[in-house]
Amino acid sequence: MADKQNTKGITVRKADDMAEWYGQAVVKAEVADYAPVRGFMIIRPRGYALWEAIQAFLDRLIKEAGVENAYFPLLIPESFFQKEATHAKGFRPEVAWIAQQDGEQERLAIRPTSETIMYDSYSRWIRSWRDLPLRINQWCNIVRWEVKDTKIFLRTREFLWQEGHCVYATEKECEQETLHYLELYRRVAEELMAVPVIMGKKTASETFAGAARSYTIEGFMPDGKALQMGTSHMLGQGFATSFGISFLGTSGEHETPWQNSWGMSTRMLGALIMSHGDDKGLVVPPAMARRKVAIVPVFVKEQEKNDATLALARDLAKELKHYEPVLDERDEVSAGWKFNEHELAGTPLRIEIGPRDVEQRQAVLVRRDTGEKRMVPLADMRDEVRRTLDAIQSTLYGKAKRFLDESVREALAWDAFLAADKEHRLILAPHCGDAACEEAIKEETKGVTARCIPLDREKSSAAGMKCVRCGKEARYRAYFARAY
Ligand SMILES: [Zn+2]
Repeated sequence: MADKQNTKGITVRKADDMAEWYGQAVVKAEVADYAPVRGFMIIRPRGYALWEAIQAFLDRLIKEAGVENAYFPLLIPESFFQKEATHAKGFRPEVAWIAQQDGEQERLAIRPTSETIMYDSYSRWIRSWRDLPLRINQWCNIVRWEVKDTKIFLRTREFLWQEGHCVYATEKECEQETLHYLELYRRVAEELMAVPVIMGKKTASETFAGAARSYTIEGFMPDGKALQMGTSHMLGQGFATSFGISFLGTSGEHETPWQNSWGMSTRMLGALIMSHGDDKGLVVPPAMARRKVAIVPVFVKEQEKNDATLALARDLAKELKHYEPVLDERDEVSAGWKFNEHELAGTPLRIEIGPRDVEQRQAVLVRRDTGEKRMVPLADMRDEVRRTLDAIQSTLYGKAKRFLDESVREALAWDAFLAADKEHRLILAPHCGDAACEEAIKEETKGVTARCIPLDREKSSAAGMKCVRCGKEARYRAYFARAY
């Protein structure tokens, strides 16, 4: 179970140096590891189980929404990228190319996203209004040749994700469903991962290359940086026009359909670790943890007593099998060592059982999130475990939500904006909507960007306000922050 690298816990405090803390937490908790090629990652079983929890939750929701899974090739002919000019320009610097070529065949790209290769097929599959809506998703990997510093889960050259690509007869239906997929992402973040998010629209300069509008869920991490956690793009009719996708409408005329694309990636695991982790390691929300309980028998010198302890621990493991408990029977390491290990791994609950507990028909229940310990009669254990897991889930969400709400600073003037940035806040400020003005904010602050215009109308309204930077009339209020 324990690696050599794991013999010491995390050696920095999260509050002192979150970047270093994050790197240690990921590796020491055996979530992921560095790969031989820079910018790539190895997702270990503990990390992959977290990804599977996201997949299972989201896959069910998108199937309920009428989306079917499919798979398209990893390699995309270069000419496909030429078809949609804005998209090609936006992705060109990040595309990795295959050096190997068969004779006269054109150059091939490793997919940085699959719009082009999927829409080539769509142009042949869609004939009439009866073929619409077409809703397809694929779970796959993506390569984007990042030049910036890479960081496991947050910015890697290869990552896992799902990408949904749907086609509709009408703009209204397309827009509605683009927002519905964003809502599903909110549910993954908040209901499964206990990470609260802000739903919003990207400003024009942050919109996905080739899209009409981009919607996002943004999280805010404990070190005062925003994290884009999922995006849903209303593509309009641009791709359909470029790829020659059309359909015979009910009136008998050929019409151009509307499209959306939406994606959520392994980046979510970075949000999870940063949001809930503490100085002891990961804290995994019960809804996401595959193994929700660790049962640790505490051994003494007398073998007879240990046999009784172990027998009881095994009975308890059977009784709690619904929670896929880890029964830690090892006797070559101390109980304290095991406690530390389960804390590092973020297992939501720990049950400690010693010889005295056997006599008194009880055990100690320990919460990973608060460290709270409680003696629980064995007869009540099943109910108590269920109740406590629910309590952990809502405590984690509540704590993260309070942090998000308390991080927001409203700034109406530039000096207030700068002061809020100095305090690493999530800044809500009126803006003129001009791309050059937005760029000036980024340059002058060396990195603060517009995260999103909140979908909450009350928060986005800028009636009577002036732009925080240039003083022109404001078009909306947006959230600004430094970001991952
Ligand atoms: Zn302005």
